[in-house]
Amino acid sequence: MIRGRLEEVRERMRQAAERAGRDPREIRLVAVSKTQPAEVIEAGLAAGLTLIGENRVQEVEEKFPRLNLPEGAFHFIGHLQSNKVKKLMDHCPVLIHSVDSVKIARKIAQYAPPEGQPVLLEVNTSGEESKFGLAPERVETVAQEISGIEGIRLMGLMTIGALTEDRERIRGCFHLLRELRDHVRALGLPGVRMDELSMGMTHDFQIAIEEGSTIVRIGTGVFGPRRPRQ
Ligand SMILES: *Cc1c(COP(=O)(O)O)cnc(C)c1O
Repeated sequence: MIRGRLEEVRERMRQAAERAGRDPREIRLVAVSKTQPAEVIEAGLAAGLTLIGENRVQEVEEKFPRLNLPEGAFHFIGHLQSNKVKKLMDHCPVLIHSVDSVKIARKIAQYAPPEGQPVLLEVNTSGEESKFGLAPERVETVAQEISGIEGIRLMGLMTIGALTEDRERIRGCFHLLRELRDHVRALGLPGVRMDELSMGMTHDFQIAIEEGSTIVRIGTGVFGPRRPRQ
């Protein structure tokens, strides 16, 4: 089951990359395993998944001890509260996609590995009130402040596209994220790389790839429908 879905997702990623004249190898797939039990994640790893995304620290704590997750596989993609940061850092995420304040970056820095913790800034590109993330106009300031924090390595930006059937509105969110990324990159802040664009989920990853995504976060497309939370 997972194997077939994974092949299909990879094929669709490849086609979208080709349409955009991009090398498909520039785009990484983070398989989002939230609500899926440990056995399903193991099956996914056996089927060839290399990167696993989770969005709740509590779920990570419950599942990961029962898993044999390879080093460098874990991406954290969910909203992060200060009081959960230490617990998260115990599980050594290779990338935290969802930093949305200087405060949370400072907290992460306290527990960062010697080489620094790679992070992305989450941006609310749709303006939807239910969404986390920085307002687009705050990205530059926050990137500047974060670039001064030792222990934090800012690698790029992340967003969730607008929740709509309107493909062009979704595209607009991704296009904006890319413009913001290019803008911050051009500032040449010390210690800031800004190469990554984490955008695209099951229903919109092709649009995201066309707009320059370097990391797609795909849950149901790889694992099937989400399980009810315990
Ligand atoms: C759940 C989730 C995804 C994956 O969603 P699907 O629609 O299942 O692909 C991606 N990003 C974030 C931040 C998520 O919480």
